[in-house]
Amino acid sequence: MNATIAALSSPEGPARRGVLRVSGDEAEALLRGVVPDAPTALRRGAFSARFHDGRGEQPVLVLWMPGPGSYTREDVVEFHLPGAPVLLQRALERLLALGARPAGPGEFTRRAFLHGRIDLSRAEGVLALVEAADDAERRAALGLLGGGLGERVAALREGLAELCSLCEAGLDFEEADTGSVPFDALEKRLEACLHQLREALAFEVRRQPPGTLARVVLVGEPNAGKSTLFNALGGERALTSDHAGTTRDLLYALWEIEGVRGGGVRLCDTPGLVVGAEGVDRRAQENARRELESAELHLLVVDARRGVGEQARALLEGTTPSQLVWNQCDRPDAHPPPGPEWCATSAVEGSGLAELAGRVRRALDTPAPAPVGGVGGFLFARHRAALERAYRELARARAGLSRRLPLDLLAQGLREGLQALDDLEGRTTAEDLLDRIFARFCLGK
Ligand code: GDP
Repeated sequence: MNATIAALSSPEGPARRGVLRVSGDEAEALLRGVVPDAPTALRRGAFSARFHDGRGEQPVLVLWMPGPGSYTREDVVEFHLPGAPVLLQRALERLLALGARPAGPGEFTRRAFLHGRIDLSRAEGVLALVEAADDAERRAALGLLGGGLGERVAALREGLAELCSLCEAGLDFEEADTGSVPFDALEKRLEACLHQLREALAFEVRRQPPGTLARVVLVGEPNAGKSTLFNALGGERALTSDHAGTTRDLLYALWEIEGVRGGGVRLCDTPGLVVGAEGVDRRAQENARRELESAELHLLVVDARRGVGEQARALLEGTTPSQLVWNQCDRPDAHPPPGPEWCATSAVEGSGLAELAGRVRRALDTPAPAPVGGVGGFLFARHRAALERAYRELARARAGLSRRLPLDLLAQGLREGLQALDDLEGRTTAEDLLDRIFARFCLGK
């Protein structure tokens, strides 16, 4: 049995009214202890009475919310009392003397979560709401409370769980009667899961704190023309040269694009991708990788004479949205392929740059879920990391599937993906993470 907890749930300090909240099996007994004239048969709702704190009485509005229809799914009672801090303190002490335990930070919400009343992202919404500093943050918190991400992930989880059990069962298909595994059907389902996952990620990534510029990173093989493009777009001077690997440090510039949030993006030029770089180059590569991970959009620059190399292809497959840019199209031997998904530019002549800006704007254009600020950074990082982990596992499973690996191996990878989603939803979240999340709540919430 859970201890019955009590705390002041209105802000500290003088106010017209203060609210004491109690939750647990003993809520009714406590209520009767301090409000002797309460009706014999309590009904959900509010009534006025007198609160006896052991030394005197005060008028009280009592809200009785029996479980499981309450916030915590336990019996909950709220006492709305005159707001004088001394009186409230005395009333709380009386409840504690009668057997209640002082609630820890966020303990009411934690109980709501543990009793399946809300999922973790909603609990985080409560936290964000409590800590919201302005209207934008409040809207974002309400978005979390609405369970936008929770619902997306729940749907995704269902599809993935099904796929997983199909793999585990292995032969549980109709086609299995014919003795062959229906790889095509599996691939289709996995592809659908990856698609949903990419959408959930994009949803999270777009919820950046307000006021921040989107981070767009130029990436590609050395000498593709990234630095030249960087100069052309950002109007900054980055050193360009014919020798591969000239760009060592990360360079930033504001690339003004009308119609994107903040009026532009933060453009970053990275050193070309090099495998097995050493020393300074290796550090530069590591920095570049970090930058890539936190970007909202990758501009994958390709030398139009050479085409998409293996590394570029790997980036295209990654979790961050990317735009393929075929650069150096002014050269006579350039041969960009036909197709709507790439953009042809010449950084030297400046052609295709407006078209590229348009594509960036569309890529960043969002039917925007409200951004999350304040605590949002913490939530955002946690959600994104879990979604990306799930994505990596699924992408690996897809590669395994195309190589026709045994189904039980695939199932194992898919289980890992599920695990990441479970962590996100808080189904299996380790105690210490829960502690960290709920410790950020104020008392009484
Ligand atoms: P990065 O190292 O990949 O960033 O590539 P750079 O920007 O240093 O460019 C490598 C070389 O290609 C330089 O000599 C540039 O002048 C040249 N270059 C870059 N973009 C273009 C382009 O669009 N057209 C032509 N003709 N040359 C280009």
